[in-house]
Amino acid sequence: MDARAELLAWYDAHRRDLPWRRTREPWAVWVSEVMLQQTRVQTAIPYFERFLARFPSPSALAAAPLDEALALWSGLGYYRRVRQLHAGARAVAAAGGRMPTTAAELERLPGIGPYTAAAVASIAFGEAVPVLDGNVARVVARRLALAQDPARRETRRRLLAAAGELVDPRRAGDSNQALMELGARVCTPRAPRCAACPLAAGCRGAESGAAEAYPPPRARRAPRRVRQVAALVEGAGGRLWLVRRAESEAVMPGLWEPPTVEAAGRRAAEAAFAARFGGDWRLSAPVARLRHGITFREIELEARAARWQAAAVAEGDAAGWFTRAELAALPLTGAARKLLVPPEAS
Ligand code: SF4
Repeated sequence: MDARAELLAWYDAHRRDLPWRRTREPWAVWVSEVMLQQTRVQTAIPYFERFLARFPSPSALAAAPLDEALALWSGLGYYRRVRQLHAGARAVAAAGGRMPTTAAELERLPGIGPYTAAAVASIAFGEAVPVLDGNVARVVARRLALAQDPARRETRRRLLAAAGELVDPRRAGDSNQALMELGARVCTPRAPRCAACPLAAGCRGAESGAAEAYPPPRARRAPRRVRQVAALVEGAGGRLWLVRRAESEAVMPGLWEPPTVEAAGRRAAEAAFAARFGGDWRLSAPVARLRHGITFREIELEARAARWQAAAVAEGDAAGWFTRAELAALPLTGAARKLLVPPEAS
């Protein structure tokens, strides 16, 4: 058997049964590929099922307000993805509701890059185009023992060409998924299992005895540690006062969260809240703590119950009072969801 056939035979025997693999419906493939770009498979599954149940077609998503899509995405992170999906769905709906069938046409939709276009075109429409995500790039770089940084344009071109040689035109979508699956489960970043790999024959990385050295690691920026305090301001009927992040924010624009400031300790946080929202703030001892990472920041967040006396408390598009039940349907930041919504309501 040649490498393509070996790869497909391995995939047929070892593929995981995942909800998006039970269909070739292009919209479902599109949604799954967008979700999986920055999210682990097990995390994505319930989100995928809820999203598809509510938005079974591009037209259904296009007809819904962005806020509703954001709410269903809440907790998955990288919210730019759902904004782009919404924009792409609107373009498809405006053109009559049918999705384009080739990678070149798909790439013309707003928010679809070369990876998603190739994944949808190959899986849903059988076009023989290779995909190059992190998993595929690693497998192919190891096969070639390529020592250059995969982020370089010239290296990407070589990797894409090598991935293309592994795509069987009769089963293009399966070939691409097989490579992604192999990277996720066999040719893993730290401990590739070359003895179990269908591509071991002729793999230069395996022959070198140091497959994990390929591709070379990228220089990483050290994350900045940030301490934040979130204030839980409770009003009449147990409602919480939340604010909405501005559309101009670089991360999580448009999502809701409890008022939050960058500060260490009670005193500093009270002063920061007063400077930002006005009035007089009194904070309790921390009632919850969590750590999370957002684009080069390692955030330590503590939530404190707050009493706030102010001449006027803002309500409207950018701030307001919400019952606990209403919170579950709101597009919340991931941290706010962890703090405020019990898992069974998510
Ligand atoms: S033989 Fe080893 S290094 Fe080569 S592709 Fe397979 S798992 Fe990766």
